[in-house]
Amino acid sequence: MVFMQKQHTAMCNSLIDRLRKETALSFDEYLFLIKNRDKCADYLYKNASQVRESIYGNKIYIRGLIEFTNYCKNNCFYCGIRRDNKKADRYRLSSDEILSCADYGYHLGFRTFVLQGGEDAYYTDEMLCDIVQQLKEKHSDCAVTLSLGERSFESYKALRNAGADRYLLRHETADPEHYGKLHPPEMSHKNRLECLENLKKLGYQVGAGFMVGSPFQTEENLAREMLFLKKLNPHMVGIGPFISHKDTPFCNQTSGTAELTLFMLGLVRLTLPYALLPATTALGTIDDSGREKGILAGANVLMPNLSPVNVRKKYMLYDNKICTGDEAAQCIECLKRRISATGCEIEISRGDYKGEK
Ligand code: SAH
Repeated sequence: MVFMQKQHTAMCNSLIDRLRKETALSFDEYLFLIKNRDKCADYLYKNASQVRESIYGNKIYIRGLIEFTNYCKNNCFYCGIRRDNKKADRYRLSSDEILSCADYGYHLGFRTFVLQGGEDAYYTDEMLCDIVQQLKEKHSDCAVTLSLGERSFESYKALRNAGADRYLLRHETADPEHYGKLHPPEMSHKNRLECLENLKKLGYQVGAGFMVGSPFQTEENLAREMLFLKKLNPHMVGIGPFISHKDTPFCNQTSGTAELTLFMLGLVRLTLPYALLPATTALGTIDDSGREKGILAGANVLMPNLSPVNVRKKYMLYDNKICTGDEAAQCIECLKRRISATGCEIEISRGDYKGEK
């Protein structure tokens, strides 16, 4: 038994060495690592940290997240701001409120702003383009990232022309069948992937990603995620644990774990060495030191909340979300402290992708 375990550890470590060198493994090899992760997690994190450091040094990029609307036309089974959650207290920020969040963030040192929201038709292309344009005019040294869900090619194009630099659209799962178990029938995996392709065509820096431990997800699914990401080759990869929300159809489903999320972060760092990889708020929610551990597993981005304090509790995608009470300035101080414990430090810059393209 002990002999078998040692043999497995040796096999895992040599797969990790090869992954680091070749930046890809087969489905069976990824699966083997995921299944035997208890025997090689520390070795993976050591390698992932070294790769992060060799490309991005000890710098952690920060993005100011502005959650500007929690209205959503979609009904994703996992999400707390889904259309049918009648208990959600809905809000929208005006253009001026969004711009003043960014001004405050700029003063705190943010050089990237992420505008995220539910799919809310109240904000027309014209309004959104105007906000993006004003943001870029006021702060020409900043990057603007959008995370507004699925839109038409024309809409993505207009927003890109208005100055948007990056777009986050997690694919949520690489498996269409699994997608169907997380979303109502009117939502389509094919459309989501087409959106990602369109964003790439339009020259956005693109972020994909998935939840770890989402209902019905198997270890095989997770191995497929790695092959999917390798092929898509996105600039950013958002990975966080699924956390159940009490007013959704998944209220009784088990949440994902920090342990598995960290392992997946490590695999992504070795598979896409240049990726911008956030240690997410969901990871910090499921484990008090999740974000620090995320950095030590290969992450290099943090996305503190810049939304006005009075709306933060309303953008509740999952239960017990952290950082919903503090002022943004307090968040930054707290993060600086936490990051210094990892030997890294916050970098004040747009924090662009360092890979090719
Ligand atoms: N409407 C935008 C933004 C969605 S919110 C869009 O469609 O892209 C951002 C991400 O939060 C989602 O992509 C999803 O992966 C994550 N999320 C939603 N509900 C969650 C939950 N219960 N637990 C963990 N992450 C969740």
